[in-house]
Formats: sequence, C-alpha cells, structure tokens
Amino acid sequence: MILDKNYLSHVDDIEYFPDTMKALHLFQEMGYELFVVTNQSGVGRGYFSLEAVYVIHRQLQNDLRENKLHPFKDFAICPHTPDEKCHCRKPSGQMIQELIEKYHINLKHSYMVGDKIIDAESGHNAGINGILVRQVHKSDFPYYKTLLDFANHLKSNP
Ligand SMILES: [Zn+2]
Repeated sequence: MILDKNYLSHVDDIEYFPDTMKALHLFQEMGYELFVVTNQSGVGRGYFSLEAVYVIHRQLQNDLRENKLHPFKDFAICPHTPDEKCHCRKPSGQMIQELIEKYHINLKHSYMVGDKIIDAESGHNAGINGILVRQVHKSDFPYYKTLLDFANHLKSNP
C-alpha cells in the first residue's frame, strides 16, 4: 500500500504507510503470494511512459527486499485511459483473472485489497474476495482501517 499520489511516476514520490511492510510480512508468513494490479491511465494520457511505471515497480521490489520480504510475484498493468474502453482497466476483473490462470491461484483464499471501490469490485468480478482499506465511502465490501488491520484479521481468522 503506497500513498495515492495521483499519477505516481517518479521513485522519489513513493511513500509507504507506516504499517505497510509489517502487514506484508504477516501476509507472507501466512503463505500468501503478493501481486500488484494497477490502473495507469497516465501512460495512455501521455503523462509518463510505461518504462516509468516499470522503474517504479523495480523500486517497489527493491524496497520489499530491503525489508526482508519476498518480492511481488507479478505485476498487472492497465495503461489505457477510460476512453479507450479496454477490457483490462479496473473495475474489470480481467487483469486478476489472467494472474489466476497464470499462477493457478485459489479463488476462495485470494483477496484484492485496495483503497478504491473499483479495486474491491475488480476482485469480485474475478471471483475472489474484495477488501477495502483506508477509504471513506460506504460500500458492501469488508472494510479495514489499515492494511495491517486486515492482515491481523486474516491471521486470527485463517
Ligand atoms: Zn486496459
């Protein structure tokens, strides 16, 4: 979970919530694989290149390794704008579905966690559990104040 910076495009702009690494440790201790599923319409809008997104993702991997975590298993990126009407942009479940097929992921024990309703919806649309953290709008999805709260919940309700 990184702070939402509206078109994060430079590694200097990466800023984690204080409990993020601890939460990721808990997930990995429980045996979960971690993936990133991200809408990057800034690419389609020409604000930055896909290569800039890859640079950010490489930095995320380095940050995880520095925190003694396994790196993310994979990244799924939608570089399109809403106007392009692609099939991958969240809330579509397509990016998640492709990861599910590629890595033979168990649906029942998988969670799409995000701070926007479209994140939880994309999980739901792919047949996995949608979870919301750190957002304020009411929805039908389970909600946790922080990623660590969710990790602790999973640990006590395996
Ligand atoms: Zn797309």
